[in-house]
Amino acid sequence: DSLVNLVRGHIRDIPDFPSPGILFRDITPLLADGPALQALVDGLAEVYRGRIDAVAGIESRGFILAAPIAATLGIGMITIRKAGRLPGPVIGVDYSLEYGQARIELHPETVVTDSRVLVVDDVLATGGTAAAAASLIEEAGGEVVALGMLLELGFLQGRAALTGRQVDSVLVY
Ligand code: 5GP
Repeated sequence: DSLVNLVRGHIRDIPDFPSPGILFRDITPLLADGPALQALVDGLAEVYRGRIDAVAGIESRGFILAAPIAATLGIGMITIRKAGRLPGPVIGVDYSLEYGQARIELHPETVVTDSRVLVVDDVLATGGTAAAAASLIEEAGGEVVALGMLLELGFLQGRAALTGRQVDSVLVY
């Protein structure tokens, strides 16, 4: 639909970033276009209106989308951060990246028990980050309604890491 075309028209492909052979999908042109950003945020918010109680954003680019979606709906945003960034007591999960390991963390009291949470990030690649984020929300007592992704790199089979979960991507490559 129109949201798909809007996103497709504002993504820039950067070859060999962050390493040779990787084609990076750059969302900064989309963010820099005010009407496009507004249409995207409003469009995504309407998809979930009435179905969620909070939006969780994954650092860093997930934050950019999660906060305005939450604010549009008048609900809270949960920050899922890279290891060592949150100041209070955290729960965390370690997971594998394509090369190496990573860890994300959460202030557990920011998740209301049994609340319905949408987890947002910019790109679904192998699915490791999204799976880790969903498990953290559940460990903190929330219910993951869906994983909302701007872009999905379908050839990396991220959905295989997320079986049984609802994955909503605006645009699939
Ligand atoms: P995964 O854990 O699914 O392999 O990787 C997803 C994470 O890597 C997301 O947080 C996303 O921001 C980042 N990522 C991987 N590839 C790309 C890309 O081509 N473009 C952007 N913008 N982010 C990417």
